[in-house]
Amino acid sequence: MKPLPRVLIVEDEPAIAELIQINLRHGGFTPVVAYDSIAAQRELDAMLPDVILLDWMLPGQSGLSLARHWRKQDRTRSIPILMLTARGDESDKVAGLDAGADDYITKPFSTQELLARIRAVLRRRAPESAGDSVTVGALTLDAATHRIAYESRELKLGPTEFKLMHHLMRHPERVHSRSSLLDKVWGDHVFIEERTVDVHVKRLREALGAAGPMVETVRGAGYRLTAVMAKSPAGAASPES
Ligand code: CA
Repeated sequence: MKPLPRVLIVEDEPAIAELIQINLRHGGFTPVVAYDSIAAQRELDAMLPDVILLDWMLPGQSGLSLARHWRKQDRTRSIPILMLTARGDESDKVAGLDAGADDYITKPFSTQELLARIRAVLRRRAPESAGDSVTVGALTLDAATHRIAYESRELKLGPTEFKLMHHLMRHPERVHSRSSLLDKVWGDHVFIEERTVDVHVKRLREALGAAGPMVETVRGAGYRLTAVMAKSPAGAASPES
């Protein structure tokens, strides 16, 4: 039998924590409660949850700074984080998402909504787990075997280029800003400049060879992976290979 998804609830108000705990149990999850950042860290050290429900206002270290911290740690980096908060301001939502939260729920919330959001982050995270393969146009990437091929010919990518490509292929036709790429691919962008992204995109295009133009620069916005390559100028010879 598949184990029930484990949810770490970090909430300092016992009544709210208990209410969430009961609802999660009824909703088919295994809830674990931590009342402050220290207890939360202890739980994480002991066993990784599938999702973290994180209250913004906590005694001691705030939820926001905890989210930022966990996003920087290899061990906790990919655990989905749902921020719980009484704040509804747009700027606060942005701060929460920038800190690495996957989603945001403003108190008071309905338990149905909470359960739906948890299921949604679990679904969204699922394809990122090892073992998936992604196809965009003639490009195929297999995360489990760490292989990428274009028109069935294998390509050699460095580890960062591979990660970058994996991210782009999971979200094709979408424009990614440099800062969002740093966040999603590098995970901890505090010490990395946005220029770094350009350097790796350049290397990625070179490694992709004929498929290089699939990685488009969107002026003033960032980068996009497209399955539909722009036609080379009329009459131009096909690219040398
Ligand atoms: Ca609180």
